[in-house]
Order: sequence, then structure tokens, then C-alpha cells
Amino acid sequence: MIDLHSHTNESDGTYTPRELVEAAASIGIEALGITDHDTFAGYELAVPIARERGLDLVCGIELSTRAVFGHGQKTVHMLAFFLGEGGPSSDFRAWVAELLASRRDRNIRLIRSLNEHGVDISLGEVEAMGRSLTGRPHFARVLMKKGYVRSIDEAFRRYLAESAPSYVERDSPEIGEAILEVAKGGGISVLAHPVRLGFRKPEEEERFIAGLKDLGLRGIEVWHSDHSAADTARYFDISRRLGLLRSGGTDFHGANKPGLELGTGRNGNVHVAREVLDDLRASAAMAP
Ligand code: AMP
Ligand code: ZN
Ligand code: FE
Ligand code: FE
Repeated sequence: MIDLHSHTNESDGTYTPRELVEAAASIGIEALGITDHDTFAGYELAVPIARERGLDLVCGIELSTRAVFGHGQKTVHMLAFFLGEGGPSSDFRAWVAELLASRRDRNIRLIRSLNEHGVDISLGEVEAMGRSLTGRPHFARVLMKKGYVRSIDEAFRRYLAESAPSYVERDSPEIGEAILEVAKGGGISVLAHPVRLGFRKPEEEERFIAGLKDLGLRGIEVWHSDHSAADTARYFDISRRLGLLRSGGTDFHGANKPGLELGTGRNGNVHVAREVLDDLRASAAMAP
């Protein structure tokens, strides 16, 4: 069993890097990808612990990007893996640092917007929940703690989701730029949880993914906690037709995404085979 999509408390998970590595090792996970949003801090802290535990740790990151679609645009999450032998290059890190700045700017505007919608919440309160960065799940926890909502889910529905009145846009990079930066950094770019793109028509979905492949995208996440069996089968077929690599993971966030287990997802709906990682690695080693 492997899991190539997980978050530590350096981004918006609730497990420390040590807790995450130990949880993975204790349930027999052979390889774990740490894919925190916009930071390598969790991965880096996990490196020596994984070595101690004999766990194959994969360097990863999850980036929020935007793609033009029709007359509007879509938020697209992209995973990047490996990013060089001795760790991510200083150029790639500098680019990621800019993303962190745009996140902080979003957080300031989100606080203002929540205040305007009658919520008593401050930047200090949400930042105290996180470490390397503050994400919407931290906002959700504060909203829960203060009694505005009863669950993380309700916090997103009423205040934080794109459809909520208090939602604010984040200034994120174009997906083409992100794909290019990942390639320059020696990484493999993977479209995360494609089901969240929200396409109703499979032909449209495939055309959109083919467009990303034309921009240089290397793979798609076939196995994910949000994917039904039919979704997984469809993404597997798409990966074959378009010649994309396959990846998979649970997107484990600890208590910030209840009902979802490391390695196995929601009620055991995620199974990622060891060969999936072998194929990704082989391609990364061959990269130009
Ligand atoms: P951010 O990167 O700060 O914009 O927050 C994105 C995080 O919020 C990701 O980890 C998502 O999985 C999580 N998220 C987005 N929508 C929801 C939702 N409806 N319920 C729970 N978590 C969500
Ligand atoms: Zn997250
Ligand atoms: Fe994501
Ligand atoms: Fe994620």
C-alpha cells in the first residue's frame, strides 16, 4: 500500500510530520508522498523520521492554480513530485515563496470579508491555528470554535466555499506557468482530484485535461478519496488515451477532513499500487 497525497500541520493537516510518518509506518504503508499546500516544511521535517522508520518518503507539493475555461476560469489543484535529487531548487522555492505571499494576501481579504458578513474573527486567531501557512481549514476550525458552525463542512458551505457569499478569490498562477515551473524544477506535474473540476460531460472533461497535457502536464490523479469507482475507472481510461502518468492518494488531512483514513481513503475506496510510484519515478529520472 502506498499513499501519494497527504498533508501535515505545516499546511492544513492536523498531524505533525512525525505523527504522519509514524501513522503511515504503523499501518504498513510502504511509500508516502507529503503534498502540503505551498510549502516543503512538513516534508523536510519528515525526512529523518522516515529514514528512521524505513518509510519511502516522496517529496511533493500541492499548488492552487487557475485555468481559463470558456468565459470564466477554474481553480485547479496541481501536485508536483520529486523536484530534484538534493531537494527542490532555490529557483523553485523562490517561486513557491511568491505563492505563499498571495495566500497571505487572500487571508487578509477573507478576514475582512467575513467581518463584513457579521463574523467576529481576526487574522491572529486563524494564524495561530497553523504553522508554515494558514488555509481555509484553519478558518473553518476557528468558526467552529467560536460557535458560528458545527462542522468543517458547514463552515465551508456557509462561509468559505467558492459558492459562499463571503468567499474571496486568491491570486493564483496560471496552470501553464505552474506546469512550466515544475518541469524546470525537475518535477512531475499531476492534476489533483480531477473530479473537483466539476465537469458534467465526460467529453468536456477529457478535452479540458487534453488541453492541460498540451501545456505539458505529465499525469493525473486516478485514485483519490473523492473519486467513486466509476470516476477512478474513467480517469484510468483517460490516462491511457492521453498518455498521462497515473498517481493516487487519499488527501489525508487528519481531523480537518473527518472520515478519511491514511492509505485507504473513505471506507477503503483508495488502493494505490506500488507500481504507480515506480512508473512516476522512472519518468522523473528520464525527464529532459
Ligand atoms: P486554501 O488552500 O486555503 O484555499 O484551502 C483549500 C483547502 O480547503 C483544501 O485542503 C481543501 O481540501 C479544503 N476544502 C475546500 N473545500 C472544502 C469543503 N467544502 N469542505 C472541506 N474542506 C474543503
Ligand atoms: Zn489541504
Ligand atoms: Fe486539493
Ligand atoms: Fe490535498
